[in-house]
Amino acid sequence: MDFALSDEQEMIVATVRRFVETEIYPHEAEVERTGKVPRDLARALRDKVLEMGFYACNFAEDVGGAGLSHLDFALVERELGRGSMALTHFFGRPQNILMACTEDQRERYLLPAVRGERMDALAMTEPDAGSDIRSMRCTATRDGGDWVLNGTKHFISGADHADFFIVFVATGLDETPRGPKKRITCFLVDRGHPGFTVRDGYRSVSHRGYANCILDFDDCRLPDAQVLGAVDGGFAVMNEWLYATRITVAAMSVGRARRVFDHAVAHAAERQQFGRPIAGFQGVSFQIADMITEIDAADWLTLAAAARLDRGLPANREIASAKLYATEMLARVTDATLQIHGGMGLMDDLPIERFWRDARVERIWDGTSEIQRHIIGREIFRPLGA
Ligand SMILES: Cc1cc2nc3c(=O)[nH]c(=O)nc-3n(C[C@H](O)[C@H](O)[C@H](O)COP(=O)(O)OP(=O)(O)OC[C@H]3O[C@@H](n4cnc5c(N)ncnc54)[C@H](O)[C@@H]3O)c2cc1C
Repeated sequence: MDFALSDEQEMIVATVRRFVETEIYPHEAEVERTGKVPRDLARALRDKVLEMGFYACNFAEDVGGAGLSHLDFALVERELGRGSMALTHFFGRPQNILMACTEDQRERYLLPAVRGERMDALAMTEPDAGSDIRSMRCTATRDGGDWVLNGTKHFISGADHADFFIVFVATGLDETPRGPKKRITCFLVDRGHPGFTVRDGYRSVSHRGYANCILDFDDCRLPDAQVLGAVDGGFAVMNEWLYATRITVAAMSVGRARRVFDHAVAHAAERQQFGRPIAGFQGVSFQIADMITEIDAADWLTLAAAARLDRGLPANREIASAKLYATEMLARVTDATLQIHGGMGLMDDLPIERFWRDARVERIWDGTSEIQRHIIGREIFRPLGA
């Protein structure tokens, strides 16, 4: 497979890299210190991205996006991965699942999201339903012609800035030969809707400033017009539109690892001990050699998975492998970089400890490493009936 980039792809990479270096890096330390992205900074970032024509670049041109291929979009995410997630959030990549909007929903949700007028957040996880998403307890029941939502979601990223929420809840139960199975439906819920509240979540050591919130539904009444996709069709829309999002985690991990790697190399070349640069010791240079080998391998896995999607090939196993390997690679690279920096690596005078902390969540969200291994194993053994 040949990943020689076209001129246009080189331009995409250069443009996003320049944006991250000039518009994101200068604000990182302050966001890290305060744990917040000020509203005016968020708006300024969004406006710059709109001006560049990259806002909602993951959407098709006929709805106002840039119509990038999966591979092009992975290149964008790879560059964004270099910067603080709290800030690159405002580069604006609304959830593709909004493509499932009906005509009326397109006017209220999809198109304003693509234009940067409204931000979305995606809510699946609950305190008692993480990896086992189908065990969710949040319900919507029929009352008259409406739906009434009750329950709690937690860990919902970007909810502090979101104007509306894409929420998955249980709408029934099927008895199957393998036991009861919940039916899931996806709803669009506006911030401020009666019976729906958003409150502060937990303080995470990873990605300070990229807040996660708790959503409470207390007899929240919604009409049918708020159902995204079909009633009981939550898994169908999830599988169709969220299938590829793990590639973005892999791509961001690769981009961040390359940034971290540059710090490791610069420090190893500069730091003198025993009268020579520490890079001169095999104990250090071999760590560097392993790091770049693993980064390149993760990069190729990620781009290859994206290229399969562009060719319309099944890619579930390949996406899981990319997400698994890239996020675990990032953990090893950030840890080795910290080791190469010695004691100063742990001090917040340098960004190294931040990269190390930030890397931790990548192995958890969008499906833990164990769940990715489960997917890979299942894809291998299912055809054999095992
Ligand atoms: C900072 C942050 C932001 C997030 N943002 C969002 C968001 O915006 N929207 C959203 O819906 N969710 C979000 N999540 C939730 C995230 O996707 C879940 O945390 C993740 O899916 C794991 O669920 P859990 O934390 O409940 O862990 P659990 O599912 O309880 O898992 C605990 C452990 O058990 C292991 N395990 C579970 N099942 C199996 C199995 N079958 N085989 C082997 N091991 C297993 C897991 O791998 C893990 O090690 C976010 C999480 C975090 C931390």
